[in-house]
Amino acid sequence: MDSGLPADDHTHTQFSWDAAFGDMEGSCRRAVDVGLPAVAFTEHLDFTVWNAPTGGWNWDEGIRGTYDDAVGPGGHGHFRGAPLDVDAYHAEIARCRDLFPELTIRSGVEVSEVHWHAEDVQAVLSRGFDRVVGSVHTLDDLRVPGEVLLVDHAEDQRQPLDLFEAYLRQVEDMVASDAPFEVLGHVDFPLRHWPATAGPSPWGRVEEQTRHVLGLLAASGRVLEVNTSIPLDLRVVHWWHEAGGAAVSFGSDAHEPDRVGRRFREVSRAVAAAGFAVSGDPTAFWGRR
Ligand SMILES: [Zn+2]
Ligand SMILES: [Zn+2]
Repeated sequence: MDSGLPADDHTHTQFSWDAAFGDMEGSCRRAVDVGLPAVAFTEHLDFTVWNAPTGGWNWDEGIRGTYDDAVGPGGHGHFRGAPLDVDAYHAEIARCRDLFPELTIRSGVEVSEVHWHAEDVQAVLSRGFDRVVGSVHTLDDLRVPGEVLLVDHAEDQRQPLDLFEAYLRQVEDMVASDAPFEVLGHVDFPLRHWPATAGPSPWGRVEEQTRHVLGLLAASGRVLEVNTSIPLDLRVVHWWHEAGGAAVSFGSDAHEPDRVGRRFREVSRAVAAAGFAVSGDPTAFWGRR
């Protein structure tokens, strides 16, 4: 039975360092239950080392990684998410494909700042992944030249609009590079923490900058992700269509099974109205109508 829903091409399971409640088998079951034709498990692949506040970072929430407490200026250590166990991951993908033959299951990675780590990334990609999402998760640490902070931790260094503009500049650098990724992940990432006191969603104030990034993305032949966690503002999908963007992917960014396919019914309807539609293969990215 065809639900008309698109594939969920951005989810995390227990193989991601920040997904303590991840469960690949449970996510497959959820995908089948909600009628998704396909799911991709795009686990975090991180080579960027972040400054994190002294005393560690969210350890009690099941974050896995290394934290070196050699405190630098401003009182911080350096954090890196635990590496992806590629062998165990592929074994679990194979097991789930056997368990859920009716579901198309794709492998994948979500790579942070892929343009900074092309060689390291290429070595991992050579082991075979169906989907590669490129995402920006960090910004320059204004206290420590040459070092970076997670976007969430940059909020006490920058005003909300400045932070968003700096984020889009970093996205532009990544998109303008020939780094190995196919899909631009969550272009609206900083808006997950947009403070109510900063007024309504700022897209109108960054339209020109965003259209420029989308033009570069379209020219590169890559795909824009409609991340449903906020979800992505429809204006951006219209700008993507006007920029000549060939395809969109849909991603819940689920870190636990219950979030797989979240908001896909209403968001996919809205994206259809903006000019994109399922192509011949219901498990593929949506193309221009
Ligand atoms: Zn991300
Ligand atoms: Zn993600």
